[in-house]
Amino acid sequence: MPSHKEANIFKPFSSKDPFQFECHAGVSCFTECCARLRLLLTPYDILRMKNRLNILSDQFLEQYTETLFDHHARFPMVKLSMGKEEGHRCPFVTDKGCSIYEDRPEACRLYPVGRASTLVDREGETREKYFIVGEAHCRGFQEKKQWTLTEWLNHEGVKEYKAMNDRWLGIMTSLKSLGPETHLARKHQMFFMASYNLDKFRTFLFQSKFFDHFEVNEELIGRMETDDVSLMSFGFDWLKFSLFGDKTLKVK
Ligand code: SF4
Ligand code: SF4
Repeated sequence: MPSHKEANIFKPFSSKDPFQFECHAGVSCFTECCARLRLLLTPYDILRMKNRLNILSDQFLEQYTETLFDHHARFPMVKLSMGKEEGHRCPFVTDKGCSIYEDRPEACRLYPVGRASTLVDREGETREKYFIVGEAHCRGFQEKKQWTLTEWLNHEGVKEYKAMNDRWLGIMTSLKSLGPETHLARKHQMFFMASYNLDKFRTFLFQSKFFDHFEVNEELIGRMETDDVSLMSFGFDWLKFSLFGDKTLKVK
């Protein structure tokens, strides 16, 4: 989720309780929240944004993101770069709102709702909790419109994001061993490519002897040449196979 540097108030939230909120061009704070964010991007966020901008994932990563790899994390993460000029605004915000609105990241869709996933087992099964991010500067809470959680998630088009992001979070948060220390750098590269640099992953699959070594259905191979969602989905299976040794792919 995006987070501002100033303190946020995270309010416990039952999915049955309605909450009051509306964001529109008439609120006095319109677009103020699209700045100074620590907005971590998921693979599906990147896929939607790079396709919206009609550029390759390599170019998107270079132009719009920073890679983070702190010592607590098992895998690298990617953050949307805020502008360097005063105000540090999101590169996609305009006076009329978000210029990539239909393809904005999941965290932007959810706001002011936040979602936290907790790992419940070593297989990557997670349990999720929702909360309200009650930031004082947000005037949207003074609007009259009421929502239940389900209404809000449907209105913001979260379904396809959640389907892809949940699978990836299962890999991110898995406690399974990554094997010997000497393999870690290579595994981090594989994780980065299949997660964030999808066009590079496609080149890797189609310009190597990959399909000589693994049993992959011909119809799926054909689909992955052009369909990014099928390719990403296959990438998640490949990551589980190559990072943790799961039987998600079959060797020939
Ligand atoms: S992507 Fe759009 S909604 Fe999200 S912070 Fe940037 S301008 Fe705002
Ligand atoms: S601060 Fe709240 S009401 Fe204002 S633009 Fe952002 S989400 Fe909308």
